[in-house]
Amino acid sequence: MVIQSQASVPTHFNGNRYFNPFPTFKVRGNLDILKWMIWDRITGKRPSSNLAAPEFEEGVNNPDWLKQNRTQFSVTWIGHSTLLVQMDGINILTDPIFSERCSPFSFIGPKRIMPPGLPFDSLPPIDLVLISHDHYDHLDKKTIKALGNKPFYLVPMGVGQILRSWGITRYAEMDWQDRIVFNKVEIICTPAQHFSGRTPFNQNGTLWASWLLKGPSVTFYFGGDTGYFPGFADIARQYGTIDFAALPIGAYAPRWFMKSVHMNPNDALKAFNDLQAKIFIPIHWGTFRLSDEPMEEPPELLRQKAEALGIADRIWLLKHGETKTQP
Ligand code: ZN
Ligand code: ZN
Repeated sequence: MVIQSQASVPTHFNGNRYFNPFPTFKVRGNLDILKWMIWDRITGKRPSSNLAAPEFEEGVNNPDWLKQNRTQFSVTWIGHSTLLVQMDGINILTDPIFSERCSPFSFIGPKRIMPPGLPFDSLPPIDLVLISHDHYDHLDKKTIKALGNKPFYLVPMGVGQILRSWGITRYAEMDWQDRIVFNKVEIICTPAQHFSGRTPFNQNGTLWASWLLKGPSVTFYFGGDTGYFPGFADIARQYGTIDFAALPIGAYAPRWFMKSVHMNPNDALKAFNDLQAKIFIPIHWGTFRLSDEPMEEPPELLRQKAEALGIADRIWLLKHGETKTQP
């Protein structure tokens, strides 16, 4: 497979670390992380975590239909940023995580509050996996080892080394604006405003990204993990019409700490507008407790704001496991 590159991307690598070349980004250091995790909890600024979780509903998808479908566009929200997307004859998983925790350890770290909306064993054959960055809630070792070398993986720069250490050999590492063609679908690695690292000692050693898929019949954008940044308008300008945009809406509180790296529903609606996409699919909420806002708040705020803007019918607010198809 040939990766083609485009030159029109701002510098985002200093030879050792990646960085965000956007005016909207504000650097936060380890001291800020400690303040959020420990000081705010001691001083009572950080709410305790016994807040309501969304209810799980059975029967919102049909695994047999998903297995035989190779023609119709469909999207199934498995939970967090994991989507099963069926477009132009290929089955795609985004940031797949089916594990109990998103953590380097099996006994500690954020625990899943909702089961995967589609069990791993009910997945149709997966052709392609898109990874946005190396954080534990997006790059899960157990899930990737279970998927193995059957799918092809597209990952941002530096993440290939992690896959290789797990025995994965079918992957391409891509930089922002690199393009590849996979079964008639053109896939572009597009920027995001975020950060990376699986240990405190390797911060920003690998790249983070969003992905744009332009198929013969449909265009799909996967936002990964990102703060609100000027890149959304650039993507619309450079690549034209987007039919579906999956954008993160959760893990935004406290704002002083999260704003640069995670959007809230308001930011995500601005991004949706900048992208000039037709349909908005909210992700990165309701599955793992990663931040201070109540679990049900992101979709509620999104719904209210979208109604006020008169665009509620363009939001596909999926339940865990729910499938929607192209109308
Ligand atoms: Zn992240
Ligand atoms: Zn995340």
